[in-house]
Amino acid sequence: MRKISADYIYPISSSPIKNGVVVIDENSKIVDLLSSTDGLEDVEIYDGLICPGFVNTHCHLELSHMKGIVSEGRGLVEFIKELMSQREADPDFIQQCIADAETEMITNGIVAIGDISNSSDTFAQKAKNNLYYHTFIELYGFMDEQAAESFDNGLKLIAENKLSNYSLVPHSPYSASRQLWKKVCKWNIENNGIISFHNEETEDENRLFLEGKGGLIDLMQWFGLDTSFWTPTGKTSLNSIKDLLPKELKTLLVHNTITSSDELLSLNLKLDSPYWCLCPNANWYIERRIPNIDDFITSNTKVTLGTDSLSSNWGLSILSEMKRIYKHYPKTPTATLLKWGTQNGAKLLGIDNAYGSLAKDKSPGINLISSLKAGEITDSSEVVKLG
Ligand SMILES: [Zn+2]
Repeated sequence: MRKISADYIYPISSSPIKNGVVVIDENSKIVDLLSSTDGLEDVEIYDGLICPGFVNTHCHLELSHMKGIVSEGRGLVEFIKELMSQREADPDFIQQCIADAETEMITNGIVAIGDISNSSDTFAQKAKNNLYYHTFIELYGFMDEQAAESFDNGLKLIAENKLSNYSLVPHSPYSASRQLWKKVCKWNIENNGIISFHNEETEDENRLFLEGKGGLIDLMQWFGLDTSFWTPTGKTSLNSIKDLLPKELKTLLVHNTITSSDELLSLNLKLDSPYWCLCPNANWYIERRIPNIDDFITSNTKVTLGTDSLSSNWGLSILSEMKRIYKHYPKTPTATLLKWGTQNGAKLLGIDNAYGSLAKDKSPGINLISSLKAGEITDSSEVVKLG
């Protein structure tokens, strides 16, 4: 039994407790949550705050071998071109990088991950159950004619491997045809899955749908497609596929770098369980901009945090994503960031019975965040996994 105290305990599901105590057993299961150290012996006392383990809702573990390879700040289209042309590597090297990336996440206090897979490269590592994984098997296919084949490839990946938790998902509004979207949504309704997709990561995405122009047309041509099939909808990217999103499905929109507050509000009204994943470090790496954080706060939107992959980030740390937000939006309250990085992600993945908050009988992981200023996260804050 360990009694752990700090300046603040953030249960997330209830108000912060100043100088409170978390009592955990040898398996890091929470036995009790106390309001003071009075009368207790052998208490570990730390400077900083204690919060649950982090939930990283957007990662591409299979790209871990690409750290530092793709140039920064050139925009999404150039990023994808560089990524696709340099993705091949020695299989043993890929496996080693996947294992190392997982270790990095564990060290940084991450306990659960929503992870994108285009291949089975990460499945052996996931089977070790060092962390909780929900695998989003991601499908592409710009044209309706490609939908059946792409969908079947996804089903094959599921059938040939043993994954505990998974969904089939479309890559994005532009790279998955309406036919593919329909198939994927139907599958998730029938299989209690979660929809996740890359949303409005770059201005070019809206240009493509609004006018049929811009960098994504170039990208399609780079992929060897005859782009004459593309018909602009005259709407933004999100508004072009909004009608395809089933109300009852948990839905994770990832990046949202250029999403307007009107789009945010109207999708929040349309869906039962919309979640918006922000990956600010990846946005900064690729586009040198981040979403308008204030819009997400004032609309009381359910935000989660993601690291994206090591191909578009300097590390895999949810605290580092919080620090990026704090750097650009210094008034963002620490309590808000902590909720985004823990409980919201756990609810999205359907694991909030065990993760995402500090409460009796849960085993959410115990993180210590130190170097606070007036109780708030700063640029020099660090995280240590205590349990
Ligand atoms: Zn991504």
